[in-house]
Amino acid sequence: MLNEKIKQLLNDQVNKEMYSAYLYLDFSGFFASKSLSGFAAWYRKQASEEMEHAFKIYDYIHANGEAVELLAINKPNVSLTDEMQVLKEGLKHEQYVTSLIHNIYKVAMEEKDYRTMQFMDWFIKEQCEEEENAEELIGKYERFGKDTASLYELNKELGKRD
Ligand code: MG
Repeated sequence: MLNEKIKQLLNDQVNKEMYSAYLYLDFSGFFASKSLSGFAAWYRKQASEEMEHAFKIYDYIHANGEAVELLAINKPNVSLTDEMQVLKEGLKHEQYVTSLIHNIYKVAMEEKDYRTMQFMDWFIKEQCEEEENAEELIGKYERFGKDTASLYELNKELGKRD
């Protein structure tokens, strides 16, 4: 059994992670349309990682004897204009997700739900990596994005993400 507040937050988080997958799939399509197939592959991989996050929380809710209510997934609401703007939106989104994860941890702490606190540890670490990855992409694009030869190489490198 889960505390009602925690259950609600985790249930919402399943939806937010699936929304993240939607958003990154949108990013992937944007980069594909710009002939940057490596960037597109990177974000497609990111989208499937987000689905894994959703499944992880889904499984946790079930493991605690609760049902998941699947909510409608919003249409990605970020307008995609140029490469750098999209990369920055990615960072902004991850910072937002971090705030959601931290809030779940905070409420779990208030409710003395030690099990959920331990479960959320993984996500706290993961968010640190997600923000780092997003910042790294921005840094690399800033450094190498203006020169076509180096952009070609960067695109190739990102395409190798497994
Ligand atoms: Mg995630």
